[in-house]
Amino acid sequence: MTDSHGFDTVQIHAGANPDPATGARQVPIYQTTAYVFRDAEHAAKLFNLQEVGYIYSRLTNPTVAALQDRMAALEGGAGAVCCSSGHAAQIMALFPLMGPGRNIVASTRLYGGTVTQFSQTIKRFGWSCTFVDFDDTDAVKAAIDDDTRAVFCESIANPGGYITDLDAIAAIADEAGLPLIVDNTSATPYLCRPIEHGATLVVHSMTKFLTGNGTVMGGVIVDSGKFDWSASDKFPSLSEPEPAYHGLRFHETFGALAFTFHGIAIGLRDLGMTLNPQAAHYTLMGIETLSLRMQKHVENAMEVAGWLENHDAVEAVTYAGLPSSPYHDRVDKICPKGAGGLFTVSLKGGYDACVKFVDALEIFSHVANLGDTRSLVIHSASTTHRQLTPEQQEAAGAGPNVVRISIGIEDPKDLIADLDQALKKAS
Ligand SMILES: *Cc1c(COP(=O)(O)O)cnc(C)c1O
Repeated sequence: MTDSHGFDTVQIHAGANPDPATGARQVPIYQTTAYVFRDAEHAAKLFNLQEVGYIYSRLTNPTVAALQDRMAALEGGAGAVCCSSGHAAQIMALFPLMGPGRNIVASTRLYGGTVTQFSQTIKRFGWSCTFVDFDDTDAVKAAIDDDTRAVFCESIANPGGYITDLDAIAAIADEAGLPLIVDNTSATPYLCRPIEHGATLVVHSMTKFLTGNGTVMGGVIVDSGKFDWSASDKFPSLSEPEPAYHGLRFHETFGALAFTFHGIAIGLRDLGMTLNPQAAHYTLMGIETLSLRMQKHVENAMEVAGWLENHDAVEAVTYAGLPSSPYHDRVDKICPKGAGGLFTVSLKGGYDACVKFVDALEIFSHVANLGDTRSLVIHSASTTHRQLTPEQQEAAGAGPNVVRISIGIEDPKDLIADLDQALKKAS
């Protein structure tokens, strides 16, 4: 695929040439663990990274490679590494940058699971995270210190329709000589292309809109290929000799593909957070219709959010597509095709009304997932955010009276009728 092809063409064709062995038009599921070497010399070259090819499916697999190529093309990056889940992708993105004592600066407005991963689990590696309000650019600058190795945010933040001013944050990261990592899960490359706004790395939970129908887990890191890893001594994994590969320097050897090669040759090899070829296949099939689905998600979300906002039982709706949102102005700049399919609604009846509301819904399913063709809801305060204090729940946009809604691609009239009957039962 070349840059001249449109998104609708790239989402179907990138990475998917007819199978060289059989001519199969759809990308086959290469259900194999290992690949026969041509001879001993070929094997040695592959293991030395002197020749690129398939060795063992923990590192590379042709079905997964097709998905990597497609995601790199859709995000406008140099290369991509697929992982077993979105959370795996976040660890894999940080792994080459970090070390004991190093920190990241991240937005307070993140997916709940990411807050837990960054505030608790990464401490086991000796890493830490400083959370700041990314609307306060002075606070972001002030949080960066000599041990900071990355800046992290979401383009459209889960759950509440918050849109990050990516250009402003990228300028701060750039000034500090740090990579900006953007989680683009809620927007997808159809609505937002973070690299065009200065992101160094883009991560995704492919589990959500990319696969699109709630079947498989997956994650990906797309590298812009634009960051100069050798400009400072902050990123020795990429700029200094690697003992496990006879002193090879990834940045000097692979240039714009340094991060991608490191992710596969070190990250997947040693952390083993590999995507399986079956999951890659489902995700490739999902991506073929990404633009069509995202258009419909946005159209439906606009209609449903607008209707909800005017309902008597509703206190507020946080959807950046609505003119009432404080982030409405950023839609044109950051995600001009729409603000996605995810928002929250708060009910005047509080916790009890929310619980009755989710129980009364018939088309919407109460699940811990989003970005499905089906419409989904979750009452965070009684589920995913149950362990947090009331203050933490409020800060996360998951107060007791808040329900998160992921709008599917059903007929919006049916969605509104379902919400209407459930709101009546709840109040
Ligand atoms: C779901 C999600 C993740 C985590 O992805 P998994 O595939 O569930 O591991 C990370 N970020 C965002 C924005 C998400 O919605």
